[in-house]
Amino acid sequence: MADRNPTLFFIHTFGCQMNQADTEIVSSVLGASGYEPAPDEDSAGIILLNSCAVRENAVDRIGNFLQQLKGRKRKHRSLVVGVIGCVPQFEKQPFFDAHPWVDFVAGPDNYRSLPSMIANARQGARQSRLEYDHQETYAGIDPVRTGKISAFLPVMRGCNNSCAFCVVPVTRGRERSVPLQRVVDETRELADSGFREVTLLGQNVNSYLDAVRGLDFAGLLEAVSRAVPGMRIRFTTSHPKDISEELVRVIAGMPNICRHIHLPVQSGSTRILQLMRRGHSREAYLRKIDMIRTIMPDAALTTDLISGFCTETDEEHRETLSLMDEVRFDSSFMFYYSVRPGTWADRNLPDDVPEGLKKARLQEVIERQQAISLERYLEDVGRTVEVLAESESRRASSRLMGRTGTNRAVVFERGGFNPGDLVRVRITDATSATLAGEAVG
Ligand code: SF4
Repeated sequence: MADRNPTLFFIHTFGCQMNQADTEIVSSVLGASGYEPAPDEDSAGIILLNSCAVRENAVDRIGNFLQQLKGRKRKHRSLVVGVIGCVPQFEKQPFFDAHPWVDFVAGPDNYRSLPSMIANARQGARQSRLEYDHQETYAGIDPVRTGKISAFLPVMRGCNNSCAFCVVPVTRGRERSVPLQRVVDETRELADSGFREVTLLGQNVNSYLDAVRGLDFAGLLEAVSRAVPGMRIRFTTSHPKDISEELVRVIAGMPNICRHIHLPVQSGSTRILQLMRRGHSREAYLRKIDMIRTIMPDAALTTDLISGFCTETDEEHRETLSLMDEVRFDSSFMFYYSVRPGTWADRNLPDDVPEGLKKARLQEVIERQQAISLERYLEDVGRTVEVLAESESRRASSRLMGRTGTNRAVVFERGGFNPGDLVRVRITDATSATLAGEAVG
């Protein structure tokens, strides 16, 4: 059995864009200590799982993966296994104790310690680093980018909200913002190294605050878009209670900011939103939608929806469907409620909607969304839209895949274009998730 190279590492990344961005930071931290990325998992002497705890099935996936790693570790005694990210931070010491073959665990604020934890593991010392560091934004670490065209750029970490169902405040701690000048500098560096698009990341970007200039997210977005006019700029995720008219006017006023806002609503019922501790009502959410649509009629809106939250009635489920009909989101991330141990909802609310009913309601929400998405996507047929080509289509190299400024996926006959090009595409067909077309210039 080929031996594994102790200086090579392999990271399995689960979950959200923030975890993907963290994996790029971890690769840089390890690279700075002489470790190199392995071409494949089998040759790696160090295997890391960058884990997600957002829902039960995400945690189950980590559990299954760890069982496989247990077998590999039995075959390769020198293999170092680490679990990082949200699962150990959420489950804490019991997780560490329950997995003795895992050499170390590290929460999202502890990645600078990874090289020393690997060295200690090689000496037979298991470690867990789960401290919060509410200042940590990994300043001075140049992420090892996985893409070449579009990059994630965290502008803040953590979340000070306390939505009843959410683990993020526990897994990622208190909010802290990356200094504005550093965000501008890093965006410039991305542009200089050939990237065409950047997504500014945060669990709730709208509560961004630059400590030096006192500028909020609207100020940051304007500064970045003016400083790097050739870079296409996206951002996620917004919170409805914090999104401002000023921010929407900045998006409307800057040609290089994508006209797409991801605005999670979770439920269409004010009573359920109150139970979820979302800090806004259905009516307040719809007023924000009106404000956005008045300033930017062509903006694309997407959202997150949870079906079957604690005590949700059939009528309240219908309020979610009617809100979807009223807003007509381009697309949505849709889930049924899964209890997360230790959250406010777990401690205070009954998980009383039967799983079968949760699934049935979710199915109805999914079908409604698919119908709305198809209607909206079909509106683009016959139009010519600007697409940033990201890659060759998986099905045919004669076609490219990319996204419009409104975040719609487009597959098109490439003509003479390549990934990285901004292409004008005439749309000829649509499904509920993808537009099809041909390059026209
Ligand atoms: S704002 Fe988002 S990340 Fe923060 S607690 Fe609520 S759902 Fe979680």
